[in-house]
Amino acid sequence: MQIKRKINGEEKVLKLPNFAPDATRAGVKALPTSELKGVGVEALVVNTYHLMLKPGADLIEKAGGIHKFMSWDGWAISDSGGYQVFSLVHRNPELGKVLDDGVRFKNVYNGDWEFLTPEDSIKIQMKLGTDIMVLLDDVRPTDRDKGEMKDAVLRTIEWAKLQKQVFLDELEKRGLDDESRPKLVAVIQGGPFEDLRALCAEGLLALEDENFRFDGFGFGGNHLDADGNLMENILQVTATLIPDDRFKFALGIGRPRDIEVAKSFGWNLFDCTIPTREARHGKVFFFEQGELASENLKNAKFRKDFSKIDETCDCGCNTYSKAYLHHLINVKDPAVYMILEKHNLKVYTRFVKNDK
Ligand SMILES: [Zn+2]
Repeated sequence: MQIKRKINGEEKVLKLPNFAPDATRAGVKALPTSELKGVGVEALVVNTYHLMLKPGADLIEKAGGIHKFMSWDGWAISDSGGYQVFSLVHRNPELGKVLDDGVRFKNVYNGDWEFLTPEDSIKIQMKLGTDIMVLLDDVRPTDRDKGEMKDAVLRTIEWAKLQKQVFLDELEKRGLDDESRPKLVAVIQGGPFEDLRALCAEGLLALEDENFRFDGFGFGGNHLDADGNLMENILQVTATLIPDDRFKFALGIGRPRDIEVAKSFGWNLFDCTIPTREARHGKVFFFEQGELASENLKNAKFRKDFSKIDETCDCGCNTYSKAYLHHLINVKDPAVYMILEKHNLKVYTRFVKNDK
């Protein structure tokens, strides 16, 4: 499957399955944008919630959009920020509240009260100018009861309806046609309840008509159960609710085995912080008989290990021995994070694209 968009008359194509690292605050931490393409990265995910607070969507629009701001001509995906803002509010009720028309929350940077409506989420993403946009949805922690989950599903559908209209208005205002417009992703909520996932998918698909359809659907909420295991059946059922000609965005699913399982159900777009965040903790991923394995270079056993992470990797990592990388971690030289992040992104993109 491919996702296509016409920009200034030229067609931009994203082949699936693919992996998009998180550039939450418009940067892949410790790794300059210029390093991304060289390790096989074709798309990245920025976060609406974080960017609306800092530096602000108006500033990014003034810069010419997220691509110009970051100096990135690949695919830019904006997550709605729903997951982040709802996690904040559900973990700390004193920091905000979900209301029928949006979510009220405290700005973590300056303590001001903010109000994010679904309509704002689309307007902000349009200002960012991303290629793929995700609708703001009502995200609940997995352990909430079915009644609360159902309310969240109904609100997610209601908000999708409002956002569809804002999206169409923005396209008209910005002169974007069906080929040049950004792609739109609706998120299927419902927690661990199969019937609620079905209710959500049905409600979202009912918003489509001859002039409007969603390009992809996302897996909403946490994908892990209370024991930290992947909710395989829910992931499988949710995939079957999505029409075959739309892409399936496995939002935040990123442990190697979880990716394998999700892919087997047809999920084909992945993003997560694991390869980059783990790199900053010394962990490297590599292929071992076709499987993705990992080890932590902080481990004392690498002190005198002059072998390479992977002799065959062409990300630049094999200029250095494990002993040297172990030493850089020990003396906290930030250069090591860039080396390890590049390597992990190379391995992760190969892994997701089946290029083992
Ligand atoms: Zn490498």
